[in-house]
Amino acid sequence: MKPSVIFFPVDNGDMTLIKLSDKTTILTDINLREAAENEDNPAFDAAAALKDHLETDEKKRPYVDVFLLSHPDQDHCRGLKKYFHLGPLSEYNDDPPEEDGLKIVIREIWSSPIIFRRAGKTHTLCEDAKAFSAEAKRRVNIFRNNGTTQEGDRILIIGEDENGKTEGLETILVKIDDIFSKINGKNSNEISMRVLGPIPIQEDIEKEEKLGKNHSSVILQYTFSIDGQEDACLFLSGGDAEVYIWEQVWELNKGNTSAIQYDLLMTPHHCSWHSISYDSWSKDENPKPSQDALSALSQAREGAFIISSSKPIKNDKNDPPCWGAKAEYLSILKSVGGEFFCTGEHPDKEATEPLKFTISAEGPQAPAKKSAAMSGAVIGARRSREPLYHG
Ligand SMILES: [Zn+2]
Repeated sequence: MKPSVIFFPVDNGDMTLIKLSDKTTILTDINLREAAENEDNPAFDAAAALKDHLETDEKKRPYVDVFLLSHPDQDHCRGLKKYFHLGPLSEYNDDPPEEDGLKIVIREIWSSPIIFRRAGKTHTLCEDAKAFSAEAKRRVNIFRNNGTTQEGDRILIIGEDENGKTEGLETILVKIDDIFSKINGKNSNEISMRVLGPIPIQEDIEKEEKLGKNHSSVILQYTFSIDGQEDACLFLSGGDAEVYIWEQVWELNKGNTSAIQYDLLMTPHHCSWHSISYDSWSKDENPKPSQDALSALSQAREGAFIISSSKPIKNDKNDPPCWGAKAEYLSILKSVGGEFFCTGEHPDKEATEPLKFTISAEGPQAPAKKSAAMSGAVIGARRSREPLYHG
């Protein structure tokens, strides 16, 4: 099996599954609504679609190797309590009511306490976010007490916390600029992750406040290594991070742009204008993007794909998803011969399906779009290894 990256159509929300060739899974965010809440596309059952892509363990329990929460907004963790098992594995209910189905086991959690701290200062966390936080704390406590954790209790902390709160957790901590490849206790030779965000806690109170207000998120650059090709695919994913954060990412990486290059980019914040600009798309006469934020998001390699995890994008004043932001991404793609996808439009606005990119040594292979799907064609990916810089 070739590895893949699957973007599920979950409205203005995220749910992305990386599946490696040994079937290891990394799930980032969920937005699992009740069918009745899914007005745009009531026929699509995201929870069932997710479970279809998951393996089951020897006790027939569906599982993910990793669940990463990019940040604790509802459109990124909705459905956690309903669809995922939280608490010790010994308390797993293997005989749930028929209509509920078996809950998904999370073998390892990737969590960022800084992001929770920042989010908690600007708004009240939703019930699913609180449940995630409690589960993360439960796992950290097990590590603190035992110095180790088992599958089902494992946790990786992304980003050092304030006032030494992550002291003693060094073996389960990754910091900004770190590259790691350990997944649920095992080193992968197929994928590695570079930590680009959250931006560390700032001494400067004003700066720290801005980071809190900009949807601080985990930002990772995934590198796939396939058949001896060490950078077969670069995937950049940054939750809902907004303009100020992308300016910081540029500031920190402009001397080494390979750290922010991509073949696959998920547009931050559901293709929001606020990820690239301080102006208002709906109110300002002539809104202008921030060149630094755009530069951070412009390091596309030849034949790159940019994906908006959002509702369909219309030519209007809506934001997100925003027509103007899409236009900026299209112009990035134009210079590298790339292509844009929107989960809410694939393959058809009326009948969406998960958007699956298969990863080979030549790079990501896109699924066919509607017209091409009719003829069964598959769109090829880029084939030169030369990065193209711009921005
Ligand atoms: Zn969001």
